[in-house]
Amino acid sequence: MTDYVLPPPAIASVAIAGSAERFAVRRIFCVGRNYAAHTRELGNDERDPPFFFTKPADAVVDSGTEIPYPALTANLHHEIELVVAIGKPGFRIAREDAMSHIWGYGVGVDLTRRDLQDQAKKAARPWDWSKAFDQSAPCGPLVPAAKSGHPDKGRIWLAVNGEVKQDGDLAELIWPVADVVAICSEAVELKAGDLIFTGTPAGVGAVQAGQKITGGVDGIGAIEVTIGQPRR
Ligand code: MN
Repeated sequence: MTDYVLPPPAIASVAIAGSAERFAVRRIFCVGRNYAAHTRELGNDERDPPFFFTKPADAVVDSGTEIPYPALTANLHHEIELVVAIGKPGFRIAREDAMSHIWGYGVGVDLTRRDLQDQAKKAARPWDWSKAFDQSAPCGPLVPAAKSGHPDKGRIWLAVNGEVKQDGDLAELIWPVADVVAICSEAVELKAGDLIFTGTPAGVGAVQAGQKITGGVDGIGAIEVTIGQPRR
């Protein structure tokens, strides 16, 4: 047995609906643009192939958490997303085999420091500081695909203090889940524990300290988090 000089970090994990067991998280991949209307609202071309960025595994937080308003931003944005949980390893997964690599699904929010992202885009710098910060990946309880099936349509929505801001449908995904899994696995070997945030529909916007985010995907689940005061 390996001895470590300090105690090993805790294993990041996501809740599973109706179970005391949890899903251990290995990596978090996110699709940059995957709904035509959102792609257009940020001034991009919807015909571009999907691209990916990542967040650290320990950016996940459970539904019900209060997340302090993050540092370095005055424009924290919400992005509601269908989350795919990988259960079986695969490299260069064929599109027709993609579903067999999926353990389940959840509902996540890709929290974004939009002002830092805008600066990064202008300066051709990495997105990490805009996307991969502490507690930037709230994710509701996962439902096993054995129960939910593999959704290809269904409402995906988000509200701030009860006011609906994002209201789309999974049928609007430019690159459906099978394509996302297959294309991601062209770049890296996917392994059990990987999460893929599959992109957000139109209606992204700012959320303030003290506001509550709720959201859901029909047939998959829901999430709610509150944005708290900044850490001192
Ligand atoms: Mn996103």
